[in-house]
Amino acid sequence: MIVLRAFKAELDLNNKQKTACVRHAGAARFAYNWGLARKQQAFTNGEKIPSAIDCHRELNALKKTELAWMYQVSKCAPQEALRDLDKAFSHFFRRVKEKKSGSSVKVGFPRFKSKKHGLGGFRLTGAIHVFEKAIQLPRLGLLRLKERGYLPASGVHILSATLSEKAGHWFVSLQVEMEIPDPVVAEKPVVGVDLGINRMAQVSDGTYFENPRALKSALTNLKRIQRVVSRRQKGSANRRKVVKQLAKAHFQVANLRKDALHQATTFLKRTKSAIVLENLNVSGMMKNHHLAQAIADVGMYEFRRQLQYKGQWYGCEVLLADRFFPSTKRCSQCGNEKAVSLAERVYCCKHCGQVMDRDLNAAINLEHLLYC
Ligand SMILES: [Zn+2]
Repeated sequence: MIVLRAFKAELDLNNKQKTACVRHAGAARFAYNWGLARKQQAFTNGEKIPSAIDCHRELNALKKTELAWMYQVSKCAPQEALRDLDKAFSHFFRRVKEKKSGSSVKVGFPRFKSKKHGLGGFRLTGAIHVFEKAIQLPRLGLLRLKERGYLPASGVHILSATLSEKAGHWFVSLQVEMEIPDPVVAEKPVVGVDLGINRMAQVSDGTYFENPRALKSALTNLKRIQRVVSRRQKGSANRRKVVKQLAKAHFQVANLRKDALHQATTFLKRTKSAIVLENLNVSGMMKNHHLAQAIADVGMYEFRRQLQYKGQWYGCEVLLADRFFPSTKRCSQCGNEKAVSLAERVYCCKHCGQVMDRDLNAAINLEHLLYC
């Protein structure tokens, strides 16, 4: 079976390489914004909207005159940015269509990319080679890797490399096509998983995954810095300094969370043959300010996404329960249903007398869905 996979690793760049990367990211952002303005203009004038290929041709012509600085970067960077822009537009048109047929999605016209949200990144295609300690990229040459031997050096087909910056660190993400053995159909258990706020995930067989402690303390730190930022005067040098610290703290939380999620999803997909999850309306729940932080922490959406894409590699099926399935309200023993408040941590059934942890009860209900 051939699967698409991404491998991400941190780069160890010298100053010259950093400058080159910043320049490439700048060119990508410029091309994206330029293309967006170009498309808007065509739209208002009632002309045919230029495609990524048209835009790239026009941009290339400008390189000879006013955009000579673009010769310093690989032509891939602007080209791929214009492709991304086309993708953003096709998603936009899809959402417009969905909206017309009665969905509640936000239409969201593609927006200009601002430097305010960081340097962003750029994508390169073409001759990309991975070595144990370094990666060879078009135009940028040989870049050292912080971690040895993580990126696949052979046996894969490399489609592209995306470079991006986050809180002063540079990363490369390789998109590869690789052959993996077809999953063996083995007798592995079927489980339900309840994604929670107190615990990251409760499995119907009684096991569970806690939120890592390191994450909790990193979050406290994040909140503290956030408060400092709001006390500093806007535009002051002091504020800028703390904002930088804040970006670092965010980065740390995101990393810890991702690690915890990867551990849990890797374990689940390897050991189970099918997993039933709640189909939560995550974007709907994020509007609830009280719950928002907690839900964001658990990274429910990310958990589900990881399970779904990793599931196929191991022949593990991921099923989503209907959004209105009463996994929390139902008694997993007798099927009786009752209202359960958020504060009730234990499910007590008056009908059959069952007493069980609330999340475990919900996970078992989800598992039972498979047998219906
Ligand atoms: Zn009962």
